[in-house]
Amino acid sequence: MSFDWSSSEAVGLARVSCAHCLGIGLRRGRAQDNPCGCVLRKIFRSCYARFRACGSKEKHMGRVRLEVMKGSDGNYCWGMKEEEYMADFCLVSKRALEEEEYQLFRFHFLLGADWKLCCRRLKMDRGSFFHNVYRIEQKLGRVYRELQPHALFPLDEYFGGTVRKALPEGYTNVFEWPLPINPERFRALRPPIRKVA
Ligand SMILES: [Zn+2]
Repeated sequence: MSFDWSSSEAVGLARVSCAHCLGIGLRRGRAQDNPCGCVLRKIFRSCYARFRACGSKEKHMGRVRLEVMKGSDGNYCWGMKEEEYMADFCLVSKRALEEEEYQLFRFHFLLGADWKLCCRRLKMDRGSFFHNVYRIEQKLGRVYRELQPHALFPLDEYFGGTVRKALPEGYTNVFEWPLPINPERFRALRPPIRKVA
């Protein structure tokens, strides 16, 4: 069964000025609506920012905490959540990417090489570099969100801040966001901006 992207989740993550989804976050597919690339990239960038934050928090490294277990009512376990998250982030990404994609992911995102270094090392031009980074961000954003049984995103759920419970049927799909029939006809509104003296 394919993952069901809710329109309310997607709209909250979409880029308001996105020319593809117009800020709605979903794009109409043949069988079902698909999350827009801007939503997937946003998910990737949130997870990556958290990965970097975990890595830079040296003083917290190795600290063991008592945590509520996911999906349970008041069961606790001992865990090192930040280390687990960093390991999950690396492992899940490695599993999801092709060998060449992973090379770029490792150099750029894990080792912090900028585009110039990556281009020299991986023998690609600037255009291909950014194109591939976009593709990798979208691919991984989807994987992080759709991962079963415990997705990396939303981060607060991963880190045990909230536990998602299935809502009663009457509360789900309260309304649907209307999708544009032909997105090409609509463009994001960009009024001319004048500098105020
Ligand atoms: Zn979009």
